[in-house]
Amino acid sequence: MNILVINAGSSSLKYQLMNPETGEVFAKGLCERINIDGRLTHKVPSKDIKVVRDIPMPTHAEAIAAVMEILVDPENGVIKSVDEIDAVGHRVLHGGMKFVSSCLIDEACKQAIRDCIPLGPLHNPANLMGIEACEKAMPGKPQVAVFDTAFHMTMPPKAYRYAIPTKYFEEDSLRRYGFHGTSHRFVSKRAIELMGNPAESKVIVCHLGNGSSLSAVKNGECQDTSMGLSPLAGVPMGTRSGDIDACVVQYIMNKEKNMSIDDCLNMLNKQCGVKALSNGLSSDFRDLEAGAARGDEACELALRKFCYEVGKYIGAYTAALNGLDCLVFTAGVGENGPETRKDICSYLEFMGIKLDPEANKVRGDEMKISAPDSKVQVWVIPTNEELMIAQDTAELC
Ligand code: ADP
Repeated sequence: MNILVINAGSSSLKYQLMNPETGEVFAKGLCERINIDGRLTHKVPSKDIKVVRDIPMPTHAEAIAAVMEILVDPENGVIKSVDEIDAVGHRVLHGGMKFVSSCLIDEACKQAIRDCIPLGPLHNPANLMGIEACEKAMPGKPQVAVFDTAFHMTMPPKAYRYAIPTKYFEEDSLRRYGFHGTSHRFVSKRAIELMGNPAESKVIVCHLGNGSSLSAVKNGECQDTSMGLSPLAGVPMGTRSGDIDACVVQYIMNKEKNMSIDDCLNMLNKQCGVKALSNGLSSDFRDLEAGAARGDEACELALRKFCYEVGKYIGAYTAALNGLDCLVFTAGVGENGPETRKDICSYLEFMGIKLDPEANKVRGDEMKISAPDSKVQVWVIPTNEELMIAQDTAELC
């Protein structure tokens, strides 16, 4: 089976053509600068092919057309005809309270995604453009929407409700939703498998990348997660502040007389986090580690603050779960940052968490990194959101 996985952003569109059973990726790539000029980067992993082409992409429709063209290209393509694509799976950011799992796309599903635009104003319109561009390029092809929020819909009200007047929940659906759900689902499922599929399990997943979130998972179901109504909440991230006292917003806006609420939120999303703490040096953990190694105190603070806040969340989620069997690190930093993992786990010694220093050197591979006498298993499990999307798509088509 060939599933095309699409992740459409406002000016970019990532794609992978893959086999949902084996996980083999036949081709993958990125359309960038949609609505500006347009560039396609296309890779065929098995043949070491990398093609970069400037192609006009005034809308997502031209981007998808360019993807279709290169996929069937005799020299750089991997299929003879678009008919060889069995179905398309789309990453969709916000499913609101309507979607507790993935769904086959029809008019009602598209309308529901549209209805969630107030909750995901930046991403949902782009996700819809990706869906409609595929409908145009491949009429009648089955398409599935996989929501970033769906996995978290098992949270109980005490976890998802905000302590604000009830009308904002009842009339406006304002609550904690959480994101990276496809990754949390993939990784927690794998952790439970690695533990031997026990009937009861308590797992905390740390998805630490440019955007970071944690989830507390009991018996395979999400109980709590660190992101909220939007991905701004939780631990400090590459460029996002994470949790912040709302009065900071009031203070900053009063000080910067011409700043609108949108400008302020834009700053909290794009100019804060470890980038701000490193005095603007970088949001990339590799740069921060290099900075700290040459004695840059701001980089050192950025790294220590990040680990401290992640460690605090793990402590809180251990209380929420009333225990912990398995702690998992995933995504760019989680998979590739031994120092970060070590510093985070240094806050958890009281729980009997002990790392194996040799195993913790791992980068990018699945590995148990806890010491044999650790009371809690600690694992690095590489995430694969595209594979999860492809599997959901295959199952629903
Ligand atoms: P996104 O949220 O954009 O999907 P990723 O999960 O790809 O992000 O994570 C990006 C982050 O992973 C970057 O901050 C980068 O510094 C970090 N990262 C990637 N490789 C390494 C590495 N080898 N060592 C430390 N950090 C790494």
